[in-house]
Amino acid sequence: MIGPCKEMQEHLAAYVDKQIEDEARAMVQAHVEQCLACRAEIEAQITLKRQLQTLKRRESRTTPAPKIWANAVAEWDRRDGARRRRYQLRYAVMACCMLLLLFGAVWAKWVAVHDFPVDAVMRDFRHARKAEVKPAYPTTDTDKARNYLNQQLGVEIPPLNLSLSQSQLVGVDLIPIANTRCARLLYRTPHGLIGLYVSPSGTQFPDLLTQSVEGESFFLDAKNKDVGLYGWTAGRVGYGLVAVKPLDAVKNVLLDAARSTQQPGP
Ligand SMILES: [Zn+2]
Repeated sequence: MIGPCKEMQEHLAAYVDKQIEDEARAMVQAHVEQCLACRAEIEAQITLKRQLQTLKRRESRTTPAPKIWANAVAEWDRRDGARRRRYQLRYAVMACCMLLLLFGAVWAKWVAVHDFPVDAVMRDFRHARKAEVKPAYPTTDTDKARNYLNQQLGVEIPPLNLSLSQSQLVGVDLIPIANTRCARLLYRTPHGLIGLYVSPSGTQFPDLLTQSVEGESFFLDAKNKDVGLYGWTAGRVGYGLVAVKPLDAVKNVLLDAARSTQQPGP
């Protein structure tokens, strides 16, 4: 900026603000009429001033708001907190109920899977005998039967060779009983067909009395008229021998079976 323009600069702001003496205003007006640069400067200053005023008005409109805003935020926080506490309590109660349900289910399942399916295997034997069922895995070889069972049941079971009591294996079946894995081995014995049931998870015989046979202890279920069951546990597996009554007739087979199951694994 040179010459008169530089001189004008000192007056431009006052001119825009209309805080200028008449003499100076006349001088600025006279100059501006001929100087594009200074006219542009004045227009720019006027525009800036308007913008500032607009901004100030907006600000003044929102000035009381922060306090209201702060109060509102505090109120919302309070309500949120109360709601959150209510929900927390609700969730806690719900979680407790679900835990109880889960615990109950697990407990029921645990109890169920640890009970030997006494009634179910007696029903199965009754059916197998009457219908003369052919085993799904027919074999007289107790080693093969053992391998098959170990694969299918996922537990180590010794070979159940009952040749000492003149009993011969007919074959093996996996039978679905109450969602547990259970196997049935059918044998021909001098006293007719018997069923030897293997339940890896059914190692308990609740409600059954113990009976001693030649010094060995068994659980006995003899309440049915036609068939009865001797139960025992060996190697963390439950066994049940089912035969037609009288059960005394299969005493030798029973002792043979119990001896087989108590053999140590390979
Ligand atoms: Zn100028």
